[in-house]
Amino acid sequence: MAKIIDGKYIAQQVRCEIKAETQALIAAGIRPGLAVIIVGEDSASKVYVRNKIKACAEVGFHSENYELPAETEQEELLSLIKKLNADPAIHGILVQLPLPRHLDENKVIAAIDPKKDVDAFHIQNVGKIMLGQYDFLPCTPAGVMKLLEYSGIDVAGKDCVVVGRSNIVGKPQAMLLLHANGTVQICHSKTKNLAEKTASADILIVAIGKAKFITGDMIKEGAVVIDVGMDRDENGKLCGDVDFDSCFDKASYLTPVPGGVGPMTITMLLRNTLSAAKLSMKQDIK
Ligand code: NAP
Repeated sequence: MAKIIDGKYIAQQVRCEIKAETQALIAAGIRPGLAVIIVGEDSASKVYVRNKIKACAEVGFHSENYELPAETEQEELLSLIKKLNADPAIHGILVQLPLPRHLDENKVIAAIDPKKDVDAFHIQNVGKIMLGQYDFLPCTPAGVMKLLEYSGIDVAGKDCVVVGRSNIVGKPQAMLLLHANGTVQICHSKTKNLAEKTASADILIVAIGKAKFITGDMIKEGAVVIDVGMDRDENGKLCGDVDFDSCFDKASYLTPVPGGVGPMTITMLLRNTLSAAKLSMKQDIK
């Protein structure tokens, strides 16, 4: 029977730490500030943004929310980012993705000052992650690493399999596991004999966006299984990429959906914003 990794509880613990550090920083004269930009009417994105703003208030951050219409021109968005790059009250800038099709996501991300890029999507930050010399880590993979750490799961020497190779989850996740001395294999939609690979994992991390795709027969006895997926099942109920019921008896640790990786993502965004505020202090001293 698997131990359930309680992401909600762990996120709460980390947020308490962030709140305490924020109070100390405010006493030293800096209130961490996050600006969130959303373009268009995507309802799921709006919910994510609202949750991010609410989380900022809970830990004592300053936050600004920019809701722009779907037809916003690229230049208009870039000039807002430029203004926020120069604003000393803002330490983190987050542009909610996906953007409407007429906007060039790469150009928009590239316009964010890398020191304020709290999503860690800027090419400079991606390179730093590769080298292991980062200021920020992408929120979801960093959240997964925190879950492992809090659960006392040591990655060193373990066979780790990451299913999914997106730029925001799979690839950076693999890199973080490698930095933690795991032996890492990355699988994707063209992988041959996927079940054989997943069944070889001591630590299996799944981020593919396919409801209940990984079933009990695809995992190793005693595996740690982390489910990043956020999907809907046949009844429209929120579920993950892992079939929780069939994996429960076989896994040693398992994350639920909801209540596993999800709560950690916003928490790591808060952590990154706090780090950005601290970084700005160091720059002021120089
Ligand atoms: P994505 O950009 O769509 O990437 C999906 C990846 O899964 C791709 O690399 C794809 O392979 C691979 N894949 C798809 N079908 C596969 C299959 N049958 N077998 C093996 N690999 C397969 O997705 P994402 O943005 O990484 O998100 C993945 C999931 O995580 C989604 O459910 C998303 O909602 C969730 N998510 C959750 C959080 C959170 O905070 N909890 C954050 C981010 C994402 P190819 O590269 O070959 O196409």
